Amino acid sequence: MKEELRIGVYVCHCGLNIAASVDCKAVAEYASKLPDVVVAKDYAYMCSEPGQNMIKEDIKNEKLNRVVVASCSPRMHEPTFRTAVQEAGLNPYLFEMANIRELCSWPHEKEPEKATEKAKELVRMAVAKARLIEPLEPRTVGIKPSALIIGGGVAGIWASLKLASSGFHVYLIEREPTIGGHMAQLDKTFPTLDCSACILTPMMVDVSRHPNITLLAYSELKEVEGYVGNFKVKVLRKPRYVDENKCIGCGTCATKCPVKVPNEFELGLGTRKAIYVSFPQSVPLKYTIDRDHCLYFQKGVCRLCERFCEAKAVDFTQEPKEVELEVGTIIVATGYDMYDATKAKEYGYGRYKNVVTALEFERITNAAGPFHGKIARPSNGKKPKRVSFILCVGSRDERADGIDYCCRFGCTAAIKQAYILKNKFGEDVDVDICYIDIRTFGKGQEEFYRKVRNMGVNFIHGKPSEIRELPDGSLVFDVFDTAANTLLNIKADIVVLMTGVVPSKGAKELAEILKVPLSSDGFFMEAHPKLHPVETVTEGIFVAGTAQGSKDITDTVSHAGNAAAVAGTLMSQGEVKIEPITALVDGDLCRGCGKCEEVCEFNAIRVEEVQPFTWTRVLNAKVNEALCRGCGVCAVACPTGAITMKHFTDKQVMAMIKAAT
Ligand code: FAD
Repeated sequence: MKEELRIGVYVCHCGLNIAASVDCKAVAEYASKLPDVVVAKDYAYMCSEPGQNMIKEDIKNEKLNRVVVASCSPRMHEPTFRTAVQEAGLNPYLFEMANIRELCSWPHEKEPEKATEKAKELVRMAVAKARLIEPLEPRTVGIKPSALIIGGGVAGIWASLKLASSGFHVYLIEREPTIGGHMAQLDKTFPTLDCSACILTPMMVDVSRHPNITLLAYSELKEVEGYVGNFKVKVLRKPRYVDENKCIGCGTCATKCPVKVPNEFELGLGTRKAIYVSFPQSVPLKYTIDRDHCLYFQKGVCRLCERFCEAKAVDFTQEPKEVELEVGTIIVATGYDMYDATKAKEYGYGRYKNVVTALEFERITNAAGPFHGKIARPSNGKKPKRVSFILCVGSRDERADGIDYCCRFGCTAAIKQAYILKNKFGEDVDVDICYIDIRTFGKGQEEFYRKVRNMGVNFIHGKPSEIRELPDGSLVFDVFDTAANTLLNIKADIVVLMTGVVPSKGAKELAEILKVPLSSDGFFMEAHPKLHPVETVTEGIFVAGTAQGSKDITDTVSHAGNAAAVAGTLMSQGEVKIEPITALVDGDLCRGCGKCEEVCEFNAIRVEEVQPFTWTRVLNAKVNEALCRGCGVCAVACPTGAITMKHFTDKQVMAMIKAAT
């Protein structure tokens, strides 16, 4: 006998988020008259404990067998309400949600009557669907206790160490020959002024020694298949032309190499050989041959490195190698890149030798840098008498070539560099910081700003419009200080550009391989900015550090620790539930044309031969439920209507459309 439908409808005020424009009482009143609705209520916060308890009590007392909540987006609270419904003994998929916040109260904030009417419509549609929904059972699959971490900056290093020390195996891949990322290039770190290398390099060594970490440096991700708990990945190991197992990092090869080229780690301010390590504390400390500059690869001559290597580690025959790994979770920690300063043409970067970026200035002040810590003008090696910083170059800039967000560390990084100058040269150097706003919001940063102000640094509220170079390499510019209402004409020996921050090169391609979305700024998008800041919308794939958005080291490390904790919690469960909202093929209607297979991004549907032992060859599409993400593209592409999406069947969708019209 067909079960009698008993639907409960709950309209959430979301404080004033919904109730300010939607008359929630009127919506509940309206819902109470819809077919099969036996209870309809409104409440201030349906997601709160009293709100959830109200639903649970009604399920028991009113014998509800379908529940509709009209509130925020399913992404925000569908799991909350499904759990509540399940706790009251109902199948969690007998729940339906109407989004009357993002789709209604927010866009129609100023039209309360229309918003209320639209909310009624959305509820009517949800009830129409709820009348047709059916129970579904999630499947469980085992989860591998290992993680892939992409990117070996401080975020990737921190997440690797946390997971490895919790007993999980970590594969850390880094595309450069060494781990360390940007932090390895910094001199001191604000606000405490610790030496960056002194904090970072011991962690890098811990990574290389940890029994639970396999470090794959000079490697890149090529392919990912599978699903949460069971990802199959292919990693490309680029040839170093040096056998990592034999190289002892003695450096004899580099001393013998006759070729000198600009050193990328020093941002071109110093040189390296064609066989090189990025910096002396590189991890792994293994040499790499730069094929584009090696005389043997380019002209077939030399091989001095090979001749003098006592460990016999040089191997010109190495080829790229593909490694296959199986992991339960993936953490993206690919960091950031700097905005290209040549785009800010008015400042002459690339044309004027003494205009440098802030990252270059980190190398200039660094004792291990190209000038051995002797702070000097790049044009003539002389001590500067005046250094001017320009903040927000390219960032917080809505022009075509600019980026509109804040890098969140630029102000304090410039203040730190000003401190280093003043601390070293005292009254002998004048330092200006030209700013739009000073944002020193992190712990201890405001105090640090005050300290540097008291050291005599000139803070100028204004942005120079253009820099000109004098014949002696000095730089002149005008800046209108709006705080002092004065036009200043400044002649500086060095100008430092605090450029903005952009997503790391290749982020888009990586996002495509991983099938995770990027935010509009190009950084990896978190599942929810407040509640799920390290999860992506793809289960089992997480994001850590500046790969998600620009941040300083303190915030990067907290974010990476959180990513490791969430990934670790998932893996420690041993198994994971797979969403049952997947595609379903009707074998009688399917004619095996393969259109579904062509459009499926997740390799979740394949055409296979059925009844292989009969004379007639019958082809049918088969869905791998673990891989299927329920996106519905296959159902749209199917010319015979053989594919149904569970929980979004044609009947259910048509009922909603009918209810809307
Ligand atoms: P990154 O350091 O960018 O590391 C990302 C790593 O991922 C890199 O090693 C990269 O090679 C690798 N990678 C990228 N793509 C791939 C791929 N596809 N496959 C494999 N590997 C990949 N913060 C402070 O708190 N204090 C300071 O004093 C300070 N000073 C700064 C000064 C300057 C001038 C700048 C620019 C920044 C400063 N910062 C400071 C910020 C600090 O640099 C960052 O917070 C920190 O480095 C972010 O670390 P990360 O691991 O997220 O990213």
